[in-house]
Amino acid sequence: MLTLESVKGWYGSTQALFGVNLRVPPGKTVALVGTNGAGKTTTLRAILGAVRTEGSVRVDDVDISAKPTHRRVNDHHISVVHEGRGLLSQLSVLENLTVGANRAQRARIDEVLDLFPALQGRTHQKVSLLSGGQQQMVALGRALLRDPKYLLLDEPGLGLAPVVIDEIYRYIAELCSRGMGVLLVEQSVARAASVADELVLLRVGTVDRVIDTADSAQVDQLVADAFGVH
Ligand code: ATP
Repeated sequence: MLTLESVKGWYGSTQALFGVNLRVPPGKTVALVGTNGAGKTTTLRAILGAVRTEGSVRVDDVDISAKPTHRRVNDHHISVVHEGRGLLSQLSVLENLTVGANRAQRARIDEVLDLFPALQGRTHQKVSLLSGGQQQMVALGRALLRDPKYLLLDEPGLGLAPVVIDEIYRYIAELCSRGMGVLLVEQSVARAASVADELVLLRVGTVDRVIDTADSAQVDQLVADAFGVH
């Protein structure tokens, strides 16, 4: 279980999180939803140790709050795909997958490529020449090379055509069914509801509501809320 308890977060002296509580079980997908500036991205950053925080972040009962980002990623198997993917567009697919990876992680390259047939045969192509969907697969692949138990995804559908978003979310569902815990930032509540087990509505840096997506009346209510209509 990935657990956040009373997590506060700051950018300099500006507070962005005011005590977030959150649980991501293995094999489940939890989606963070909420308006711009609600703190979704900052919550992911807090888990990674990329903003100043107070409160506790635990992975399988180990408190990682004081650990640097690289320890959280490499020792506690938390991987992230940033919004905009964070790829080095002039480098090849292979270079993007392996940059910064250690030997054990690099050894997993074939396993990761097996997941994405669209990337096979393109490993030496420059990332800038790939489609948006293929680029998102590279970003996902890079995260998967780190053998995550918990995968953090910041708006994986951003800028992609709906049919490509569906494909990316099918990959995510497959990873989840293998036991990975997924924490997802998604602008569209309707889409989030179609892929996640649970929706966490953030409002001004705190959790406003947690909704089980099996509860369709609550989901409908949330989708109908002004901010949920896109
Ligand atoms: P969006 O969909 O716009 O990314 P979000 O829910 O992810 O929204 P955050 O990006 O987490 O929201 O922002 C939460 C708050 O922190 C906002 O008030 C935002 O202005 C502030 N903030 C975000 N990034 C920074 C930064 N680098 N420096 C200072 N303040 C920031």
